[in-house]
Amino acid sequence: MGTFECRIHGIVIDKDCTERLHRNGRTYFGCRPCSIERGRAYRKANRVKCNERSRLYSKANASSRKEKRITYVDNNRDLLRAAWDRYYSENSVSILEKARARSQRLKVEVFRAYSKEVPECASCREPSIDFLTLDHIGNDGSSHRAEIGSGPKTWNWAKRNEYPPLFQVLCFNCNFLKYLSVKPPSKNPRRQALEAALKRETLQMLTGGIPKCEDCPVDDVRILTVDHVHGGGNEHRRSLGMTSSQSMYSHVRKLQDKSDFAVRCYNHNSGKRSWTKPV
Ligand SMILES: [Zn+2]
Ligand SMILES: [Zn+2]
Ligand SMILES: [Zn+2]
Repeated sequence: MGTFECRIHGIVIDKDCTERLHRNGRTYFGCRPCSIERGRAYRKANRVKCNERSRLYSKANASSRKEKRITYVDNNRDLLRAAWDRYYSENSVSILEKARARSQRLKVEVFRAYSKEVPECASCREPSIDFLTLDHIGNDGSSHRAEIGSGPKTWNWAKRNEYPPLFQVLCFNCNFLKYLSVKPPSKNPRRQALEAALKRETLQMLTGGIPKCEDCPVDDVRILTVDHVHGGGNEHRRSLGMTSSQSMYSHVRKLQDKSDFAVRCYNHNSGKRSWTKPV
């Protein structure tokens, strides 16, 4: 404790007063709140100058700053964790919104690089960004994804690596048809035919006629699927222990009330839970 002469408040008692000499030997402008306020006002009035100065400073001290940050993070793990948890719980909505907006911007940027100004499916020219995906031209998608991650991680990877010619833009429907066309033939074609028949029958029960997407004219059973109308499909399947689409079809067939389910193509089913939509 000590006294300190604030240029606004006059003599004040301030617990930090004895140490209120700036590193460079100058005294502070005033008591702590006044100094903080003044610094803020200065930076606001001189934004360009301050930004430039801190950019130069960061550049000149990049390695020592990095070292300091690493030491600090190492020594304050719990503190930082707690602060982030608190911040996240208070701002989760805006944090998620910002993350989604960021992913959406990244997606458009990357897809433009692999397509055109308005990205579209290379096969059917579908232009809705929510229906589009990056297809591995060489069909080595799963191993590559395991290495670099899926969705926004792939997009980031492609951008960082200056858009290597490994990808093309396809819609989910065309992507899946392409996958089927290169998939090795089933080891059990009889069972495969049976499953296909079961699927067609289930879809027919839901549409009451020839299976067709609820939202578009697609009627190719290979790219039609059962959609949970209210979302939450993955959770639902997990809670019922349904690991395959076959067990899901049998489940839906047995239901009296099928109003929670509809037939949708992969585009209209996947577009709903795209990376850029609310989770
Ligand atoms: Zn003051
Ligand atoms: Zn397509
Ligand atoms: Zn559709």
